[in-house]
This record gives sequence, C-alpha cells and structure tokens, in this order.
Amino acid sequence: AKAEKRGTCRSFESGMDAAAQEKTRLEIDFRKALQNKELRIHYQPLVNLESGAIEGYEALLRWHHPVRGDISPDVFIPLAEEMGLIEAVGRYVLQTACRQATDWPEHIKLAVNVSPLQFRNGNLISTVIGALSAANLPAERLELEITEAVLMEKGPRPAAIIRNLRAFGIGISLDDFGTGYSSLSYLLNYPFTKIKIDKSFILKLQHEDRSRAVIRAVIGLGKSLGLTVTAEGIEDPSVRDYLRDEGCMQGQGFLFGRPAAAEELSAQA
Ligand code: C2E
Ligand code: CA
Ligand code: CA
Ligand code: CA
Repeated sequence: AKAEKRGTCRSFESGMDAAAQEKTRLEIDFRKALQNKELRIHYQPLVNLESGAIEGYEALLRWHHPVRGDISPDVFIPLAEEMGLIEAVGRYVLQTACRQATDWPEHIKLAVNVSPLQFRNGNLISTVIGALSAANLPAERLELEITEAVLMEKGPRPAAIIRNLRAFGIGISLDDFGTGYSSLSYLLNYPFTKIKIDKSFILKLQHEDRSRAVIRAVIGLGKSLGLTVTAEGIEDPSVRDYLRDEGCMQGQGFLFGRPAAAEELSAQA
C-alpha cells in the first residue's frame, strides 16, 4: 500500500513537470514568435449605434502557433507579462497599429490595449509618442484602453502618466468596466474620455434584469461626466437597439464585425 501511495505521488509530480515543461515550451515559442514578428494584429470596428458608421478600430493581438494553431491573447498576454516581454509586445502593437491606421480615413480612430505592467517603468509615454511620430499619426486619433488594475498600481505615477498622455490629445478609455472594483472615484480623478462596458454585462443583458440595471446606470454616469460610453460584445440586433435607445453611443461586437486583418477591413466596411 505504501509503495502504491508513493507511486501515485510520483505520477502527480511528473504531471506537474509536464505542465511546467509545456509552459516553458510555450514561452520559448512565444519569444520566437515575437522576434520573428509572427504576431499579427486584427482590428475590430467601433460603431456609432445611431448611424451605424465605423468610428474606430480596436487593435487585438493574434498569435497563430505553427503546431497548436490560434492561441488566445487571454493566454499569451499574461505569459508575456510574466516573462517580462510585455513592454516589447506593447511597443510592437503600438508601432504596427499606428502605421496601419495611417491607411484609414482621418476620422477613424485607433484603439490600443495597454497592460498595467507597461506603466511600471517610465517608458510608456516615449513609446507611445515614438510610435505616433514614426507613423506620422496625429495623437488625437489614438485611444489607449486601460483597465482599473493600472490605477491600483502604487504611487502617483499612473495618474501622472495618464494626464501626460491625455495632454498630448490621446484618448483614454476605461476598459472592462464593471468587472473589477470600478471605484467611482477613478472616474472623477482620472481624465478618461471613454468607458467600455465589459461584454460580460452585454451578453447577459437579454436574460438578466440586474445586468440591464447596471448598464443603464453606467450609460447615465458616462453621459453626465461627458464621456463616450461603448458597449462591448454586441452580437444581436435587439441588444444593439436596446443600448441605442438607452443612449449608449458606441458599440463593438460580432454583429458589426469580428476582429480581422487590416487587408480585410475595407471589404467589411
Ligand atoms: P478586451 O480588451 O476586453 O477585448 C475585447 C474582446 O472581446 C476581444 O477578445 C474580442 O475579440 C472579443 N469580442 C469582441 N466582440 C465580441 C462579441 O460580440 N462577443 C464575444 N463573445 N466576444 C467579443 P480577444 O481578441 O480574444 O482579446 C482578449 C483580451 O486580450 C482583450 O480583452 C485584451 O484584454 C487582451 N488583449 C488583446 N490584444 C492585446 C494587446 O495588444 N495588448 C494587451 N495588453 N492586451 C491585449
Ligand atoms: Ca480592450
Ligand atoms: Ca472586455
Ligand atoms: Ca480585457
């Protein structure tokens, strides 16, 4: 019985080894993909809910692994953060997307996600301004999407960085609104230009009175603060109509378009 127990224990440990090995392999592959520029950027339209016009595109990073196929950014972004590569990844996305956006009509904005870790060492401002000027893209055309995790970083730095970026004319969106602590004081103390209601609320809207109540409140709050309110995860025309009638100005979701390569955008529009 004792031997058996030890055997079980050993196979459990080797199971851990396999998972750790697999992770290490994925890390090696990701580093290679970044170096070889195998990461691609897809763009998803941000649509005016009243007119249906495209007002911007959100850049969403894609990794197609040669063996495993598409790997979700919900997997490889945390990996990049852990590996200390998120700054390089973020720079790559900013540079590539800013260059890409110069092909679009001038009224179309570019939204780029920024990891909280990109706020840690003082390079974010120069990375952003560098990407804009290298592409010759006006600062007013860029929106940075940040989550409230940024605001929980200790010290005055994130606030100073955000104000600085805003002073250049860059838009600042509070992403995934409603999923964390969403302290209302954040909305008062930081110069946000947009709130993005997380798709988890929008996807439940049809079935949950409580989700609808939260959504209505956020739309009202955004309006009274003079912010654009964007709803993520609109898959259904009736959801679009509901949000529009509640006064939500902008939407994003599979109903309007899935994230697609830059070359495919004009075909979609
Ligand atoms: P996010 O910023 O909240 O992006 C929205 C996610 O919702 C995207 O997932 C998008 O494809 C998905 N989505 C859009 N419309 C719909 C819809 O109608 N229904 C449903 N079910 N989903 C929809 P994706 O592309 O897998 O990205 C996941 C997350 O990875 C993003 O969430 C963002 O936090 C992160 N991410 C992606 N690209 C980057 C990047 O370049 N930098 C950083 N730091 N994070 C990124
Ligand atoms: Ca986002
Ligand atoms: Ca979200
Ligand atoms: Ca997110």
